[in-house]
Amino acid sequence: MKVNPNTKFEDYPLNIPSAKRLQKKISSLVEELKQCGSALTAVPVIKKFNKLMEEVNNDMSIIYVRATLNTQDPIYKRAQEKCDEISPLISSYAQEFNKILAKARYRKDLENIFGKYLFRMIDDSLRTFDEKVIPELIKENKLVSQYDQVLGSAQIEFRGQTYNLPQIGKFTQDLDQQTRKEAAIALDKWLGEHEEELGNIYDQLVHLRTEIAKKLGFKSFTELGYLRLGRTDYTAKDVKNYRKQIAECVIPVANKLYKTQMKNLGIKNPQYYDYNLSFKSGNPTPAGDLKYLVNVAKEMYDDMSKESSDFFNHMLDCHLLDLDSRPGKAPGGYCTYFPLYKTPFIFANFNGTQGDVNVLTHEVGHGFQAYLSSGIKVPEYRSPTLEACEIHSMSMEFFAWPYMKGFFGKDDEKYRYCHLADAIEFLPYGITVDEFQHWVYENPNATHLERCAKWREIEKAYTPHKKYDGLPTLDHGAYWLRQSHIFSSAFYYIDYTLAQVCAFQFLAEMTKNREKAWKKYVKLCKCGGKYPFTELLAKNKLRNPFEDGNVEKAIKPLVKILKGFDTTKF
Ligand SMILES: [Zn+2]
Repeated sequence: MKVNPNTKFEDYPLNIPSAKRLQKKISSLVEELKQCGSALTAVPVIKKFNKLMEEVNNDMSIIYVRATLNTQDPIYKRAQEKCDEISPLISSYAQEFNKILAKARYRKDLENIFGKYLFRMIDDSLRTFDEKVIPELIKENKLVSQYDQVLGSAQIEFRGQTYNLPQIGKFTQDLDQQTRKEAAIALDKWLGEHEEELGNIYDQLVHLRTEIAKKLGFKSFTELGYLRLGRTDYTAKDVKNYRKQIAECVIPVANKLYKTQMKNLGIKNPQYYDYNLSFKSGNPTPAGDLKYLVNVAKEMYDDMSKESSDFFNHMLDCHLLDLDSRPGKAPGGYCTYFPLYKTPFIFANFNGTQGDVNVLTHEVGHGFQAYLSSGIKVPEYRSPTLEACEIHSMSMEFFAWPYMKGFFGKDDEKYRYCHLADAIEFLPYGITVDEFQHWVYENPNATHLERCAKWREIEKAYTPHKKYDGLPTLDHGAYWLRQSHIFSSAFYYIDYTLAQVCAFQFLAEMTKNREKAWKKYVKLCKCGGKYPFTELLAKNKLRNPFEDGNVEKAIKPLVKILKGFDTTKF
């Protein structure tokens, strides 16, 4: 199927994949591959298979985007349900196809053509799945949905009204301390009422994941968890050494930032909810509405480079940004990709806060990488593992720094400071989440209360400023029940911190030589997913955060940048 890459999004066709037709097509390709006796004969079959997958993925991405743009549309709702049914079928067929490739007599020749890394990915994906664990995988998904449901349907009583979690979150950041405190009490009460239920869901997940790991021949879930994330080149031991570096070099800097914050706010005995408020004058607010911000973004990307200008104008011209909030539109934000049109799509819900600007820098960073890697022929090499993906987005946030006057007007300095301080302060929390999960899966039979005690112990070591004002649920260590990644995507959270440490390197480099730093960034984006994480870093001259001394080297220049801000005037 030939498509015009300049097609406008609304003209993308709706093709609902048919399970029957797909099954027939894939199984005939599997049969064809079985008959191949050499790389020469296998390559065209692999190409046909990839093309078919691209078409299906393209159709399913279109359906997903349209279904989230309007959750009330019955056509797309049904189409999405169809896709949900077909997805596991496709995975199991792809698995069958890959099994043949992995065991092929001519595998070495294929490795020479497609690269060894592709086959490493195939080997690992085969290790993470077997038909005998399908019932457990279905159950795992169900438990995660159950968790989402409990959090999504939260009704929290506060000052005579009922709120959901994001709504109550706003009160915990209120300028008035008493409001923050009462909101924190309400939240703690709600969490206490649901602690048993949530703790139970997690307990089942931990046992289930451990069981899956054992059935697949792993000692514990940890190794399987790493493989599920495509981590082929580092282990839990490397991550442990990385956490140690964060603890030594970042926690003192973060603690200093917290001290300055409380001094500026004039709070003597700060509790955890006080840290939600950055400044007496409130958070930085964007200088205009959606139309205004998109226009500033256009001017920025036009000015940044030819590549970014081409990319952003393409997104505008083809209507590939849907950013406003409307009734019926799904919540949240994401960046997805249409392989046939070779283009990303960005979805968001603007609400007038600084988060809107983050979409225009962070999500656009993801989209920019997808756009620059769209020429890569092997689909598996187009996008890297998740920790590397966040380098593209988080670094773009920093490359946007010089343009913040346009986005924030008089609040531009305040935004830059907040952005950097938040990024540094996030790291100790990120390693808390990670260390906790390692402990959990190495001690799968621990009780809920033991898990809470462990969480509180790690929390006290890495975020010593957090005092819970005697709130009973949080004080005994139940905060982690609200961190959805712990439930939905085991071991994933550390990725944000790894990417952040790499993005810091771009910030430091751009203050010295912006043009050089930008070129380096574009090169990284163009590499897509051709290499595993640490190799990708080496190829692009970025310091590997697992190696001793490299976290310190990434943090040092930031301390200097922080000194350049006069926080008393915010
Ligand atoms: Zn991201």
